[in-house]
Amino acid sequence: MSQSPAQGGASGGDDEAIERRMLDWLDGREAAMVEELRVLVDLSTGPSELDGRRQAIHLLAKRYQAIGLRAEILEAAGGLCHLFASRQPAPPVDGADASAAPKVLILGHVDTVHDAANGFVGMARVGEHLHGPGVADMKGGLVVAATAIQAVARAGRLPRLDLRVLLTSDEEVGSPTSRALIERLCEGCDAVLDFEPGRPGFAVVTGRAAVGAFRVEVAGAAAHAGAAPGEGRSAIIAAADLCLRLGALTDADAAAAGSCLNVGTIAGGTARNVVAERCVLEIDARARTAAEVTRLEAGLRAAAAAVEAATGVRVTVRGRFHRPPWPMVDASADPLLGLLRGAARDLGLPLPAIETSGGSDANFTAALGIPTVDGLGPVGTGYHAPEERIERASLVERAKLVALALLRLRRATEPVVSA
Ligand SMILES: [Zn+2]
Repeated sequence: MSQSPAQGGASGGDDEAIERRMLDWLDGREAAMVEELRVLVDLSTGPSELDGRRQAIHLLAKRYQAIGLRAEILEAAGGLCHLFASRQPAPPVDGADASAAPKVLILGHVDTVHDAANGFVGMARVGEHLHGPGVADMKGGLVVAATAIQAVARAGRLPRLDLRVLLTSDEEVGSPTSRALIERLCEGCDAVLDFEPGRPGFAVVTGRAAVGAFRVEVAGAAAHAGAAPGEGRSAIIAAADLCLRLGALTDADAAAAGSCLNVGTIAGGTARNVVAERCVLEIDARARTAAEVTRLEAGLRAAAAAVEAATGVRVTVRGRFHRPPWPMVDASADPLLGLLRGAARDLGLPLPAIETSGGSDANFTAALGIPTVDGLGPVGTGYHAPEERIERASLVERAKLVALALLRLRRATEPVVSA
């Protein structure tokens, strides 16, 4: 096997034999992975399904215990819980200092956007694909991560890693109870691997937009629409004015740069013949850079102030960017991507990297300067929709990629030794 340019490939005959045996074992795991995924998909973990999310966390705790990790359930606000599984390196590692073991954080989430009540339930096989709620985002990724770690454990190489696994249950709502945990656990890590869906063409994700959520309340004055329209101040007219001003903030240039403000919902008024007293807008915001985050936030507040001045209503803006931007860097300046690409090359697979406007927990770790690669789950499409599916064969391919990278990972501070 050839040498990874970034952090070392198989360094000798023994390592090559270990890698080959591990990959052979993984080649035979597809049926087991599909079955593990089916069980996870059957546990519905949508936005209103707290019990399902708790059950999934407990199920995965058992899975990681069986692999040989210490598993801890971390209780969080609102009845949520997260799983922290870890494996300290066994000192000494082949006569070396245990502190030389590379620190890795595996990130995943058990929650999906699909409640069973909406009718999208269970997993089905459709040709070369698996179709079901959360197969891509990201139960397939949970299966890939566990299987890759199991493969490393079977190869006897778990003691060489300082491994942490954090599986959360609130990623789809912006990670309110897990963000601090993620930021604490990634400290000092040589690699953060996040298992959101892989992208078509076997691509991974190495850049994401900042994500913001805002709620705007417009307070006008009610009046009889026919008898005394002049006494009212329509919150709906003012909200419409605000929508147009926000649209202007996302011009073609900003959109091309990955910035946008989307008024996703608007609700107001009480009756046809009443000047609307109140109107509420919910707004999603995306930005690729810190400068764009600042521009959009300032633009939103300036637009609100302008509408107040023009119409006499009161406009209250709540919310913020809750995920920081993760700007994509050149692949040559990304040693972790280089390590994964070396492993992919040895597997005969491409590994393109893309940037996306969707946010994930990887935004947090990347923004702290920790080497991060996301999109390591199976190749999926249609997530957050009833079309959600994955390419079945990519379950094993991704597990092989990740397992190989975990075997080859070295401390970032360790000098690279050429084979
Ligand atoms: Zn996700």
